[in-house]
Amino acid sequence: MDLHIPTLLVVSVFVFILMGLLTCHAWWRETRERSLAYLGAMMLLAALGVVLVSWRSRGVDVIPLVFGNMALLLSAAMNWTAMRVFVGRAPSLPGIFAGAGIWLILCFIPAFYDAMPLRVVAYSLMAAGYGVLTASEFWRSRSKLEVAYMPALALTLLHTTFYIVRSVIDKSLPLEQALSGLGDGVRFFSFMLFESMLYVIGIAYVTLAMVKERAELKLKAAAFCDPLTGIGNRRAFMSHGKLLLTRCKRREEPAALLLCDLDHFKRLNDSFGHPMGDQALIAFSRILTAHLRSHDVFGRIGGEEFACLLKEADEQEAVQVAERIRQAFFRLAMLEPGLLSVSIGVVTTRESGYDLSSLLSQADEALYGAKDHGRNRVQTLRMLYLDLTDS
Ligand code: GH3
Ligand code: MG
Ligand code: MG
Repeated sequence: MDLHIPTLLVVSVFVFILMGLLTCHAWWRETRERSLAYLGAMMLLAALGVVLVSWRSRGVDVIPLVFGNMALLLSAAMNWTAMRVFVGRAPSLPGIFAGAGIWLILCFIPAFYDAMPLRVVAYSLMAAGYGVLTASEFWRSRSKLEVAYMPALALTLLHTTFYIVRSVIDKSLPLEQALSGLGDGVRFFSFMLFESMLYVIGIAYVTLAMVKERAELKLKAAAFCDPLTGIGNRRAFMSHGKLLLTRCKRREEPAALLLCDLDHFKRLNDSFGHPMGDQALIAFSRILTAHLRSHDVFGRIGGEEFACLLKEADEQEAVQVAERIRQAFFRLAMLEPGLLSVSIGVVTTRESGYDLSSLLSQADEALYGAKDHGRNRVQTLRMLYLDLTDS
């Protein structure tokens, strides 16, 4: 089936304009993600390019041949820039204008300007070159991209392959013949317009999906982070902690909970001011980060309360870790010795089970035991019960 080329040209221009405006709107209204602005520009330049390229047989061939193709190459450069900015790199001005600039220079050479097959090959190779650059942006940033970039990469590679193939097989059909539906390359010409429309719609969709996914990840990270100390908050601790305990239970591994409460913190605030209290909270968070392993889960679960879940730790190991944390905070050279201290309640899954809420409430009991015994100490539930039976 041969598709009607004039109709395809009109439809493609309208599709490019509509997609371009919608993409710019998404950039303006929603995220201010600059890659969407470049992508919108890519589509509007593609529309301009197609209009200019169609301006044949009106006596001024310089418009379609020179400016039309320059607009299309700028459009390809914008596509590359959109993805480059998305992965966090700055736009490259020389790179953006290189394709259009080289085209302009080539057009000053009569042997090039007058030879359509040569122009088709040069244009296709430059468009494919921008495609390779676009794909390489994803590839070089693949380890730090947290979003699903594969659909965008696959789409880009398909589009690039199309232009590489075009540079070899395109019969360089003059536009007048294409418009009248005559000649060998009509099918290829209509397929090219069709492919460009599918690519524009596809890349807009997958880029918007990536932008949304990243915005959601940022929101989620903010919702799980304690803004003062930068470590996880109560929500993060409960969520990650439950996961850790489920995994430990399934594998029949032990885990231990450390509940830490800074001592006389109200007094510290009252004597040295709230900012100093904040510094103490930050310092304690750093101590936790330094003393715990990457697979342990910890967070600030209240004003001056912190909780840590230690994976594969029995009571003895948990008490050792808690002791190291207590001593490190006590020895901190921030204030006079003795002013900073922490009480820590320790429970393990062996005696308290794998339910996080009951672990927390039993650790709270142990913690209050530590406060009762004069603060600045580590207390296990078992030690507390032994004390109670002794007295
Ligand atoms: P205890 O040794 O029994 O734990 O006494 P405490 O003074 O530490 O406990 P209390 O619950 O009486 O006081 C906790 C204080 O922690 C009160 C509150 O003003 C302070 N606090 C809570 N959040 C913050 C914070 O983000 N920054 C600062 N500087 N202080 C905070
Ligand atoms: Mg408290
Ligand atoms: Mg306290």
